[in-house]
Amino acid sequence: MNTPVKISPATLAKLAKLGIRHRADLLLHLPLRYEDETHLAPISTVQPGQTVQVQGTITHSEITFRPRRTLVCRLQNNGGELYLRFLNFYPSQQKQLAEGKQIRAIGEARTGYYGLEMVHPKCRAVEDDTPLQQSLTPVYPTTAGLSQTALRKLIANALETLPLTDTLPDTLLRRLHLTGFADSLQLLHNPTPDIAASALEDRSHAAWRRVKFDELLAQQLSMRAHHRERGQRLAPALAAHGRLAARLIQDLPFALTKAQQRTFAEISRDLARPHPMQRLLLGDVGSGKTIVAALAALQAIENGYQVALMSPTEILAEQHYLKLRDWLTPLGIAPVWLSGSLKKKEKQLAAERIASGETLLAIGTHALFQEQISFCKLGLAIVDEQHKFGVQQRLALRNKGKAAYAVATDSSDAKPKQSLPPCRGKDRMGVESRADNTSTPSPALPLQGGGSCFQEPHQLMMSATPIPRTLAMSYYADLDVSVIDELPPGRTPVITKLVSDARRDEVFARVRAACLEGRQAYWVCPLIDESEALQLQTALETFQLLAQTFPELRVGLAHGKLDNAEKARVMAAFKTNELHLLVATTVIEVGVDVPNASLMVIDHAERMGLAQLHQLRGRVGRGAMQSLCILLYQQPLSELARARLKIIFESTDGFAIAQQDLQLRGPGELLGARQSGVAMLRFADISADEDLLEHARQIADELLRDYPEAARAHLHRWMANKHDYLHV
Ligand code: ADP
Ligand code: MG
Repeated sequence: MNTPVKISPATLAKLAKLGIRHRADLLLHLPLRYEDETHLAPISTVQPGQTVQVQGTITHSEITFRPRRTLVCRLQNNGGELYLRFLNFYPSQQKQLAEGKQIRAIGEARTGYYGLEMVHPKCRAVEDDTPLQQSLTPVYPTTAGLSQTALRKLIANALETLPLTDTLPDTLLRRLHLTGFADSLQLLHNPTPDIAASALEDRSHAAWRRVKFDELLAQQLSMRAHHRERGQRLAPALAAHGRLAARLIQDLPFALTKAQQRTFAEISRDLARPHPMQRLLLGDVGSGKTIVAALAALQAIENGYQVALMSPTEILAEQHYLKLRDWLTPLGIAPVWLSGSLKKKEKQLAAERIASGETLLAIGTHALFQEQISFCKLGLAIVDEQHKFGVQQRLALRNKGKAAYAVATDSSDAKPKQSLPPCRGKDRMGVESRADNTSTPSPALPLQGGGSCFQEPHQLMMSATPIPRTLAMSYYADLDVSVIDELPPGRTPVITKLVSDARRDEVFARVRAACLEGRQAYWVCPLIDESEALQLQTALETFQLLAQTFPELRVGLAHGKLDNAEKARVMAAFKTNELHLLVATTVIEVGVDVPNASLMVIDHAERMGLAQLHQLRGRVGRGAMQSLCILLYQQPLSELARARLKIIFESTDGFAIAQQDLQLRGPGELLGARQSGVAMLRFADISADEDLLEHARQIADELLRDYPEAARAHLHRWMANKHDYLHV
């Protein structure tokens, strides 16, 4: 057996960029695709769109300068000809591709300016008798400065020097008709000549299925590990008395939908357990998540615990505050409003009421837990639009309760004492915990009246980004998921129209007519991804243009750079119908509720993603009248933009849209992989590999029960790398 090669620190850094931190990770760094260098296609038979290997003689080679410096070579053979084009090239390449040279080129053929061409094909000089490759050539995901050859060598060395022990027992493999781990990896890295390229490309080959199964199984095991770990942490058991909830429900002008009842029941059951709930409440825009959150809050309050309700923006937070104040004041509960823009004095007052336990419900923005706010007895934290919150913020939230635990543990020798200091000025049990997590150890106080120990609040996350349930469950490995899958009755679906920018004048006329009839409209400014300054400039220009176009209308502008007070003022003016038309950037994306607004124009809709379009459209259709959403687009449309607009035009169901988005872009893009940090699937595709996922679910339980060692080894192989994230 060979010995492991030495890897230089520079290479290690590059490998780390690929997520390879241990030698064993090299084994699971699998090819992205394969190049077929096993045979040659006659040039005359090549069709545009095909990726092929051809061989011929360079009969012409020149550098052209229009539109930019390009090396163009003509490759001929047996009456066929094809052009090779290089936009970036070295002098050595130019020499290699000089007239008269015999070349083998592999690349995708397409129709170009001169006829059939390949752009940046992989080329090498050959003789008449240079042998062809015997098997498909793997192409790995790589990073700048790390060549395919270097990566191949490292992986080959890992395959030779590391044990490829199967983590799964034979009996399971036989029952599931899965191939062995070692064989599968060898084959994927070094396919034998008899293997059909297509089975490897579309990942349907048995070797791929084994790897995908392993990945899904690891994910299932890690989810179970999370759950088990959470089951060992403590949270207050908030019994479901339901008295306050019943009173609120009775006072509502509407009846809860079945989905609202079901999801609340799921939440209520979790809250009653002495372990922290971590549940994601998924529901389309307008599905009525707020009332479910309010009911959950009441369950905590009824048990004498505090609730924090947090939103990513001031506008949203305030909306929640006003709504919950209306709902809960008759029940004798006065929420406290807390936001970054409060005056120092007011903030201090609010903070004191929260710290003393006088207030049981605090509603606000991130400020609630980013700043020095300490809760007396936090039982439940509700986070709206949780995808806007980063991993760090979720951790900070959890630590609000943890600090209390630290005080108790530090001061006792071995086991944590179940005792905490009482609230300031109140006789409730609980502890002051600090956001900065620097509470100084103090002697453990004797147990107070035999109450329970408060360590960690329950967490309820809410999201209107409707992602498919399976995806949600595997993406948020540590979350339970409840889905509100029906809208309250009596909504008129929004009509969506696609209008080319060439017909902008007609759209203006429509906006004018609607506003003069007493309706209100949104005009969403084009999205400029590259720069915030440009985005702002575009918003200002759009506003000026529309104000000029509609001198008879009152036009307002809301954008992300307005200060909070100004933004609130504009939104309030729109809400009270002082403004006819609100020009806005995507700040209005989430949560804004103005029932009288029944027309929305989305300018340059082709630049926006599906989720964003869906969210924006959800701002209209909130009242009784028929609403209209006009998607104004600029020609020409890219294929992706065309596909997106078609989907949003045809469907108003957020989950259906998300499902299609998933197919269009894949889960990583859909969710913004970097944002969460929880392990994403690299190989398996939960929509295409549902059968494997089902097996993985069953086997995970069986493995944990009958083969705990195997389960441990399996998790180690697949998750060792991701450990940092496991506890978020
Ligand atoms: P979201 O899920 O987007 O946060 P909200 O909670 O803001 O939705 O609810 C949207 C609107 O629907 C609110 O005006 C709310 O009062 C109303 N609503 C909620 N549940 C129901 C229901 N069961 N029947 C009728 N209207 C409802
Ligand atoms: Mg909401």
